[in-house]
Amino acid sequence: MAKEHNSASSQHGAVKKQTSAFKHVELERERPHLTRNGFENNASDEHRTPRRRSISKGQKNPASKLRIIPLGGLDAIGKNMTAFECDGDLILDDAGLMFPEDGHPGVDLVLPDYTYVLENADKLRGIVITHGHEDHTGTLPYLLKDLDCDVPIYATKLTLGLIECKLAEHKVKNAKLIEIQPGQQVKMGCFTVDFFAVNHSIPGAVGIFLQSPAGNVLHTGDFKLDQTPIDGVTTDFTALARFSDIGVDLMLSDSTNAMNPRFTPSEAEVGKALKQIIGQAKGRVIIAAFASHIHRMQQICDAAIENGRKVVVTGRSMIQNTDIARKLGYLNIEDHNLIDAYELRGTPADEIVIMCTGSQGEPLSALARIANGEHRTIEIEEGDTVIVSATPVPGNEKAVTRVINSLAKIGADVYDKSRAQVHVSGHASAEELKIMLTMVKPKAFMPVHGEATHLRAHAHLAELTGVPPENIFVMENGDCLELTAEGIERGEGVQSGIVFVDGLSVGDTSQSVLDERNTLSAQGFAAVALAVDFKNRRQLGEIQLTMRGITGGDDAYLAEEALYTLTGAVKRCLAKDGGPREVRKIARDALLSLLWERTKQRPMTVVNLIEA
Ligand SMILES: [Zn+2]
Ligand SMILES: [Zn+2]
Repeated sequence: MAKEHNSASSQHGAVKKQTSAFKHVELERERPHLTRNGFENNASDEHRTPRRRSISKGQKNPASKLRIIPLGGLDAIGKNMTAFECDGDLILDDAGLMFPEDGHPGVDLVLPDYTYVLENADKLRGIVITHGHEDHTGTLPYLLKDLDCDVPIYATKLTLGLIECKLAEHKVKNAKLIEIQPGQQVKMGCFTVDFFAVNHSIPGAVGIFLQSPAGNVLHTGDFKLDQTPIDGVTTDFTALARFSDIGVDLMLSDSTNAMNPRFTPSEAEVGKALKQIIGQAKGRVIIAAFASHIHRMQQICDAAIENGRKVVVTGRSMIQNTDIARKLGYLNIEDHNLIDAYELRGTPADEIVIMCTGSQGEPLSALARIANGEHRTIEIEEGDTVIVSATPVPGNEKAVTRVINSLAKIGADVYDKSRAQVHVSGHASAEELKIMLTMVKPKAFMPVHGEATHLRAHAHLAELTGVPPENIFVMENGDCLELTAEGIERGEGVQSGIVFVDGLSVGDTSQSVLDERNTLSAQGFAAVALAVDFKNRRQLGEIQLTMRGITGGDDAYLAEEALYTLTGAVKRCLAKDGGPREVRKIARDALLSLLWERTKQRPMTVVNLIEA
C-alpha cells in the first residue's frame, strides 16, 4: 500500500515523525495555537489554508450551492456515509457498514448503496473518516475497489492503522492514506475541512467543520462529553466555540443516545468496577469486550496489573487490535505483563485475566468457544469470573444470553451491565446533546446516526435549545439538503438503499433471495418430480416427493397422503386438457394446501416436470 500516513505534515519536512495525539512535546515550541486536544495549523502545508483566509460570515458566494446527501446511517445505527457536494467538488464523510439482522440469513454484511459516489467519482476530492469503528470504515474496501481513482483518505493515526489492516485483508493496494491530527485544517477542492477532537469509545475520534463557498456545516461524529477520559482527550470545546463564532449553518449530530435522559457516565466508572470485581475474584477472570474499544482494553490491563495478574489476549480481532494499538502508542502494557494463551498451563488461576472477543455472543468468538468447551487453550472452571464488558447491539441479545447461560451452567460467576457498571456507552445522552447544540448554535440541524425514533428524539432536543422547527430536518438515506447564502431547503434526492455482501459476492443477493432463505428456514422444503405424456394425456410412472424441514415430513402416512393428493390433482388437470403450466401449478397448490391443513407450514415447493 503506498501509504502516505504522514504526508499531511512530514512530506514537507515540517514535522519529521508523526506522534500520537498526546505526544506533541517537540511541536509545542514551534506552534503558538495549542489547544487542549491538539494544534491548529501545526505545519505549513499546501493542503491547509491559514485560518484568516477561511470563509467566514458574509464571504459566501451567492451562486454556490452545497448539497448535503446522507447515503447511510439514517435508518439504523450503522453504515454511516454522507456526501457533501459544492461547485463541482465532492467530499465523502465516513464509509461504514452494518452487520446483518435476524431477517437477513446468510448475509455477512450490509453496505449503503454508494452508486451516487461512483457516478460522481470525477468530482471526489477526498474521503474523511471520523473514527475507526466499522460503522464508519467498513465500506471503504468495497468502495475503493469500485472507485477507479486514488482518492485521498483522511483520518487520524489509529483510524488509519485499523483501515490499513482491513484494506490488506481485502487486498486493496495503493490506497492514499493521509494522516491528520485534531486541530488541523485541510483544503479539499472548494472545501476547507477542520478536524477537531471528540471523545468516543475509540481513541483518535474527530468531528469535522466544513467550510464551503455556500456555507458551513459541522458534523460532530460519534461523541460523548466525558470530562475524565482515559487518555485525557476531551471533546474540544474551544474548537467548537470558534466554529460557532465563524458561523455554523447546519449541524449533523450523533443521535444514538438521544432517548437516554441525563448524561452518559464516564469511561472511568468502568475502571473502578473492573478493579473491584477482579480484586475479589478467586479464580481466573475472563473479560469480553469490543476489540476496537482501546480505552476499555487499557482499563482491563490496568485493573489486572493492579491486582497482580497478567493478561492473556485471545480472539483474532482482539489480538490484531492489541498489536496495532500497542504499536501506535494507544495501548500501554509492558511485554512482561502479557502472556501467551499457550503458557496458561502452570500459571495459577488467580494470576490471570483473559481479555477476549465475544461480547456480542458471536458463535465463533473466543468467549462462545470458551463457554462451549471448544477453545483450544482456555477451559472455564467452576469459580472463574466472567465479565461481559459491553451492551448487546440490538438483535444480539439472545445470543449473548445464550453464552452467559452456558457459562453460568459451568459454575462461572458472570457479571454484565445489569449487575455492575462494567460498561458505559460511547455516545452522548440527551443533556450532552443539548450542550453540543447550545455551544455550536447551528442555524439548521439534521440529526444523524440513528433509527427514526432516535432522530426524532434528537430533533426534539434541538427544538428545545432554540433551533427553529422549520430549520430541523429529519431526513432519510438518499434525501438531499441544499444550502445557499439564502438559506437551506430540501432538494432532489439520489439513488440510495442497501447492498448485501454474501460470501464473496457483493450486491447479488436480492430481497427475494433473502425471502426464500427465510421461507426455507422457517417453513422447510418440498420437491415434486413427475413425468407426463401430454400427447396421450397421462402421467408416467410414480410421482417422486421429497420433503425436508416439514413437521411430520418423515411420517410415512403424510407422505402417502401427499402422493395420493398429488396423483389425483394431476389426473384431474390432464382430464381437463391442462398443459405443462397448469400441471405444475395444480401439483404445487394441491401439495401446499394439504401440508397447510396437516402441518400449518407452507414450505418452499419446487415442481420438476418432465414432458415425455
Ligand atoms: Zn463509533
Ligand atoms: Zn458510529
